[in-house]
Amino acid sequence: MKITARTLSDQICEVEIDGPIFKKIAPHKGDILDLPWIAPGLIDIQINGFGGVDFNRPLESDEAWRHATQQLYIHGCTGFLATLITNREEGYRKLLTDLTARIRRDPRNCLGFHMEGPWLNLDPGYRGAHRAEWMQKPSVRLLEEWSALAGDLLKLITLAPEVDLPASLEVIRSGVKKKIVFFLGHSAAMGESLGQVMAAGAVGWTHLGNAVPATVPKFENVIFHALAQSGLMASLIPDGLHLPPHAFRALAWMLNQANPSRLLLTTDAMAAAGTDKPGAYTLGDVQVEVGTDGAARLPGSGRLAGSTLTPLQGVARAEQMASIYLEEAWKAFSIRPASLLNFKHGLAEGNSADFVLLAPEKTPYVLATYHRGKCVYEAP
Ligand SMILES: [Zn+2]
Repeated sequence: MKITARTLSDQICEVEIDGPIFKKIAPHKGDILDLPWIAPGLIDIQINGFGGVDFNRPLESDEAWRHATQQLYIHGCTGFLATLITNREEGYRKLLTDLTARIRRDPRNCLGFHMEGPWLNLDPGYRGAHRAEWMQKPSVRLLEEWSALAGDLLKLITLAPEVDLPASLEVIRSGVKKKIVFFLGHSAAMGESLGQVMAAGAVGWTHLGNAVPATVPKFENVIFHALAQSGLMASLIPDGLHLPPHAFRALAWMLNQANPSRLLLTTDAMAAAGTDKPGAYTLGDVQVEVGTDGAARLPGSGRLAGSTLTPLQGVARAEQMASIYLEEAWKAFSIRPASLLNFKHGLAEGNSADFVLLAPEKTPYVLATYHRGKCVYEAP
């Protein structure tokens, strides 16, 4: 199969696909008008639920799994990490057993798991929507249990190392040997302890700027300390609610100016994402109210509990809020998270043919999504 399209930097190319891979990508001459954009499929490292389906509750049916993953394809996402928030050990056991079996049977676009919790800072300013009573100190025992249930699908863990620094270092060292990626998040770690966990193998910060108390010291705060670590990547949620546009722009610029860029984008989507329906939702055992403004909050409090952003909306909003090229925002939401997860992604010969065709407009929309060389969504 051959497709003529233009890259996000408006280079015309002819893409030849052979089975699941890109066989050849060559420059092509012709009229750029009417050609769609071609871009690598979006890779979202934090999806709590989507299309009305909550991954933090046992799924009702195979249909629910197919529906949620299809909605992600529709929004340009060819790879994501199902994200499990703080839970009881028994809850993790059930969810990991059920989802691992589904992914092994019918992986769709799911690449594995992001465990956000239960090793987080239980201070109300840091914990966000996570339940304090289920939080724990890091333990290799629990890591081994997850690993036995999910095997190589256990991809990313977010933790707050300050809750027990020696135990955190042990968990990180042991997890890194299993090729698990470690991020800090919902954490107050700064200075020396931050340096120590990075030396042990932690490489990023989850949704930087969120899960931070509303008032923090002007210099001694986790945002400045994370930014000051040149080797630390950070994910940002570009919905305009988790970070107001000026804060998003400032953080995105700082992270993206580094060489190599440290900017990652994620939606942190919860079940209401991709539904366009306000109302009552769940995030595991947590009740969440989605307003007409699209904000997902704990009822009766201002606390955000995930977002209702879709991956494609996210990349477009990031471009607008940060005034960066769409191509730059796209990398932070595709090739960079893929390389973090250790796989080659992007428009290059030999790579898996995972891509989207987009209408080249100010707010682009998905014309078609291809995964492993097959069309998995075509706009009506
Ligand atoms: Zn979080």
